[in-house]
Amino acid sequence: MTVPPFRPVIAIHGGAGTMSRAHAATGQEAAYHEALHAVLLPAQALLAAGGSALDAVSLAVDLLEECALFNAGHGAVFTHAGTHELDAAVMDGATLRAGAVCCVSRVRRPARAARAVMEHSEHVLFAGAGAEEFARRHGLELVDPSYFSTAARRDQLQRALAADRTLLDHDGAALAADTPAAPLEERGKMGTVGAVAVDAQGSLAAATSTGGMTNKQPGRVGDSPLIGAGTYADNATAAISCTGTGEMFIRLAVAHDVCARMRYGGLSLAQASEVVVHEALPAIAGRGGLVAVDRHGNVSMPFNTEGMYRGHARVGEAPYTAIFG
Ligand code: ASP
Repeated sequence: MTVPPFRPVIAIHGGAGTMSRAHAATGQEAAYHEALHAVLLPAQALLAAGGSALDAVSLAVDLLEECALFNAGHGAVFTHAGTHELDAAVMDGATLRAGAVCCVSRVRRPARAARAVMEHSEHVLFAGAGAEEFARRHGLELVDPSYFSTAARRDQLQRALAADRTLLDHDGAALAADTPAAPLEERGKMGTVGAVAVDAQGSLAAATSTGGMTNKQPGRVGDSPLIGAGTYADNATAAISCTGTGEMFIRLAVAHDVCARMRYGGLSLAQASEVVVHEALPAIAGRGGLVAVDRHGNVSMPFNTEGMYRGHARVGEAPYTAIFG
């Protein structure tokens, strides 16, 4: 029997806008760990059975979108107008093929739509009504926009709207500082889901899906669906999925920057992702984090916020999940 040269691993995130440590003490933390495990296990099994990194990240993001705890798919945040506008992207590191959708409000599983764009069109990014029509033509489920709404997210919008009258800052920590007793999770504006993986062939893939930031202006597009900003995969370097204040991730082309620092600067995965998250992003007040893997199975999950819902699972090992630093 030949031993595969690459040890498959999947890493996921559920956003850098987490609950505060104080709120975690109330027991909410367990539900998040459980949800992360429930995503990692089937993706790990898929990789163990010889499945591709692309299928593993697609499955993981599919499950994260369907989980109301995370800001993607069902449970997505509200825009300033009280609507939902979802963004998603997927990239195959073996071929550099990529697909994405943005500003969709009727596609139940935006990451599947992103993959359909990658596999069934000559384009990379579809927006709004055109993206929805494309998804419909490719047999994807469309839903009434109210499908994405949850009471918790509506409450979060109300708090963000109220806070905006006195605070311009879009950061959850600053909002919470206003009223220290309030859990960050309720008032924070961030959250996104994503997955990166390497398979037994040494191929990489990345996928990201989000409702964006609470109280965002209608029509605003974040980093998640932009290839090179919130999502990137290249077998020569790494697969990256980001979460955080999207505008700064766009301005720094964060996901591609990690790969570029590896490729041109000779940095390791950990060095490249840490310098971007802990030096480049803070220099322009960018907050958030990312998950990254390389083809040797190294995993890096740095963040500069209080926490980031995250985890990874190597084939043959128990999954690891974490929320805080
Ligand atoms: N990066 C996402 C966006 O700006 C939000 C997030 O990750 O929390 O749309």
